Amino acid sequence: MDCSYFRERINLYVDGELGYLEVAELQQHLSFCPDCAAELAQVGEVRGALAAWGRLELAPPPAFAERVMAVAELEPLPGSPRPFGRAVSDTLEYLDEKLGSIPLPGGRHLPVKNVIGWGLATAAVVIGFERRHGRRSRELTPL
Ligand SMILES: [Zn+2]
Repeated sequence: MDCSYFRERINLYVDGELGYLEVAELQQHLSFCPDCAAELAQVGEVRGALAAWGRLELAPPPAFAERVMAVAELEPLPGSPRPFGRAVSDTLEYLDEKLGSIPLPGGRHLPVKNVIGWGLATAAVVIGFERRHGRRSRELTPL
């Protein structure tokens, strides 16, 4: 049995779908295979992050994608003094004023800008990465 045999089982293990003997077999392999142990740690982290997102149960605000794209359009051209991070924070302040907060069970409120901020942070990374590795690979704008 090589590593690929165990790699297939790591996902099943994280899902709790392995039998007792299979778990023992996998754990025995993990005890001397740092590669598979690292794979398990990574799969576990991803699953944990996804589960955390799943528990939020928050629908994106109306026109969320359009707003993200609007923010992306605000990114200055090379040489412009306005950094992307400043544009994002201005937009979040604006949206905070306009949208307020999302009511949560128990009478608490979650500021909409926090929800959007998480999305924007993700979008900014993706968009920034694409831009920097596309048209202007030498210039890095700190966020
Ligand atoms: Zn292995």
